[in-house]
Amino acid sequence: DPQLNPAYTFDTFIEGDCNRVARRAGKTVAEKPGGTSFNPLVVYGGVGLGKTHLAQAIGNEVKNLNPNKVVLYVSSEKFINQFIDHGRNNAINDFIHFYQMIDVLIIDDIQFFNRAEKSQDAFFSIFNHLHQSGKQLILTSDKSPKDLEGVQERLLSRFRWGLSADLQVPDYETKIEILDIKMKNDGLDMPREVVKYIAYNINSNVRELEGALISLLAQSSLNKREIDLELAKKVLRNFVKSSTKEITIDAIQKMVCEYFDVAYDKLLQKTRKREIVQARQITMYLSKAFTKNSLKTIGEHFGGRDHTTVIHSCQTVKDLMDTDSLFKESVLELQQKVQLAAM
Ligand code: ADP
Ligand code: MG
Repeated sequence: DPQLNPAYTFDTFIEGDCNRVARRAGKTVAEKPGGTSFNPLVVYGGVGLGKTHLAQAIGNEVKNLNPNKVVLYVSSEKFINQFIDHGRNNAINDFIHFYQMIDVLIIDDIQFFNRAEKSQDAFFSIFNHLHQSGKQLILTSDKSPKDLEGVQERLLSRFRWGLSADLQVPDYETKIEILDIKMKNDGLDMPREVVKYIAYNINSNVRELEGALISLLAQSSLNKREIDLELAKKVLRNFVKSSTKEITIDAIQKMVCEYFDVAYDKLLQKTRKREIVQARQITMYLSKAFTKNSLKTIGEHFGGRDHTTVIHSCQTVKDLMDTDSLFKESVLELQQKVQLAAM
């Protein structure tokens, strides 16, 4: 069960002013799970700032230092879906019991607990049990716990028992270090002035920083051209532009079909074959990310599915990308193709 991505470690998580408190608290927690006042540890911050990476680094480090500890990483979406499945099978007690056996419970993106009342009730009893037994809880959220809407007050007050630490957009020096480690891990090199140019011009989040790097590499290999400042300027101009330029759902569907060698009509039918389901989910995810169509319109392009199916698909893709590096590679490669097509 690939819950933890082994690439997400503390070694590859660069420390800077933007994340120092959260990273150090995470390290402390990994060394003494349940044995510090940082319980729960809540890591919050905007998209692409490293919440999943840091949360998984804690899990990996615990396993590394203490292989006997039971560590579970789960997204709140998956937790809720499991809860619903167990409810259908009258097995809520099994569900709660399973979670109560865990030493280190990591729940990613708790903002999706929003309005899932019954799941919150289950989480509340799991939280209490684990906390009382000295087990560690690590939670991530896109907002500070005090700004979380639709989450029960009794849960929010428990989140305040521990430490909440935020992740900010990295400063210039940290961006340089992040680019350096990504290049080192992929065995790449490029002129310093190019690295500096990217760090200086990408100011949104770390995922975009990586995206810019990938775009540049792709352009360089596609055009059989050395990476230099001129190419970097051209690619980054297009990179920024490509996120605003419109590409159609049809075009994305074609690209995905070609990539996975799946027939176009299969994508629209109700087939439950795994490869086709995944291709369909990725297409929805990319359509949401790269077109301005509503969820409803996207659903209609897939044989009239409704918007909740689209939401679910996008979430499934995100979850899989966090835990399955091969899957993530495919999605990133496709994302790259879509971005290039939009140039
Ligand atoms: P979030 O879960 O907050 O949306 P992720 O954890 O998925 O963000 O991070 C997005 C990408 O940025 C990942 O590839 C991650 O490895 C990388 N990243 C984020 N912060 C750092 C950091 N401090 N050092 C190295 N890589 C980072
Ligand atoms: Mg995440």
